Amino acid sequence: MVKGGLLMTENHDEVWKKCLEIIRDIVPEPTYNLWFAPIVPVKLENGDLRLQVPSMYFVEFLEEHFIELLRKVLRRVIGPHAKLSYEPVVVSGSNDKKSKTVTIPGKNPVNLANKPVEFPISEEKRHQIKNPFIIPGIQKLNIDSKLNLNYSFENFIEGENNRLARSAGISVAEKPGVTAFNPLFIHGGSGLGKTHIAHAIGVKVKELNPNLVVLYVNAHQFQQQFTDAIQANEVNDFINFYRMIDVLIIDDVHIFAQGNKPKTQEAFFHIFNYLHQNSRQLVLTCDKPPAELQGLEQRLLSRFKWGLVAELTLPDYETRLAILKHKIDRDGIEMSAELQRYIAKNVTSNVRELEGALVSILAHATLNKSEVTIELARDVLNKLVSVYRKKITIESIQNTVCNYFKVSPDEIRGRSRKREVVLVRQVSMYFAKELTKESLAAIGKSIGGRDHATVLHACKSVKDLIDTDRQFRQSILELERILKG
Ligand code: ADP
Ligand code: MG
Repeated sequence: MVKGGLLMTENHDEVWKKCLEIIRDIVPEPTYNLWFAPIVPVKLENGDLRLQVPSMYFVEFLEEHFIELLRKVLRRVIGPHAKLSYEPVVVSGSNDKKSKTVTIPGKNPVNLANKPVEFPISEEKRHQIKNPFIIPGIQKLNIDSKLNLNYSFENFIEGENNRLARSAGISVAEKPGVTAFNPLFIHGGSGLGKTHIAHAIGVKVKELNPNLVVLYVNAHQFQQQFTDAIQANEVNDFINFYRMIDVLIIDDVHIFAQGNKPKTQEAFFHIFNYLHQNSRQLVLTCDKPPAELQGLEQRLLSRFKWGLVAELTLPDYETRLAILKHKIDRDGIEMSAELQRYIAKNVTSNVRELEGALVSILAHATLNKSEVTIELARDVLNKLVSVYRKKITIESIQNTVCNYFKVSPDEIRGRSRKREVVLVRQVSMYFAKELTKESLAAIGKSIGGRDHATVLHACKSVKDLIDTDRQFRQSILELERILKG
């Protein structure tokens, strides 16, 4: 028994209770309920108080907003040597029980979520997977690869924002299944070129090795095929088909995380394992990094990090201009260099919108039989910007708010009364009211079939919180900026 330490270890509940009493007096009640009440003290050793928190987001939020307060309170209750550490609630199935210690003051938010969690495949599972090549009669699969030949690497302009993903894509296409980039996991926001690179890899593989079996499939189609296979009692055929592929490219895998489809995830998991073990290449694209993919099984998430995770970010001005030039040359369009620069400078959102702007400007010029001038471009872009604004929908709001607070959209549409879920639900309703022209009834309906009174109440609660809680107000302002793009 450790002298002295033992007594302290037993006191963590009491110490944390004292801390909470002080904190409760200082922070507004909703803040207290949301951020402090869910914390569970785990142990106290040599002045180090260990707290269990519901999620990583919690740690980051506490560190960012309440570290000073926690420091003062802990020093008051424990003494000048007080230290603080966190551990996340252990996700079931995870064998990663280690926790991370953060001493006060924590400078950077702790990133437990980035810690690799590995789930080795058991020998038993390995043997469950049968070799599909024993199926009599099947020699070599001849399938339509579903590739768009226009989406080639030649047409994909290199820039700072895509260099890693692009060069990894080329390596993978040259040596599928052989490099360490397996899976190649490409993530990034909408319109940044994920689908283009995904096709480009397939196109290049086919160019170099026409005999390899390549398949491009969107996660939504995969899900649909799987559902059809279940209905037709053809799940084995479905899985065997996918096992024969040499380069499997699945676009938008975040779709697997939506809509609670454990069977699809299970099928994908087995296909993934089989292909990976047999040195076939997997290419996956996603709208967020693996660590932020909620709703996907841990064992899948950990596999996504086995190879290379590469991000596509917003292109800078030079890259935007190069992309524009490439498209203009390819399509034989005449446009002054000045105007090209004007468009590249003003359309900063993403490549899809850059292309859209170019097409719109040309269309206007053709319709009006006018020259493409800077004035015309300015008019068109002004109109386009207002069109983009109108694209804020209840659904896009829900997704952005959920992503911001790290809660899944399904959860806020569900019945959960968990404090953090309730608040995120209310914030979604508040923004839907503020930023769209939708009725209270329509807003309520889209968030799990709630009525207009609930939406009204939500808007009021959020407004009250904005008035009383500075941190919350800042989060709301930041979210508003994100939502308005
Ligand atoms: P995402 O799948 O990420 O939403 P896409 O791959 O559909 O984006 O890209 C949107 C459009 O932008 C496509 O027409 C694509 O060809 C084009 N694009 C994106 N990045 C580039 C690039 N670096 N060079 C040329 N075109 C690009
Ligand atoms: Mg896409």
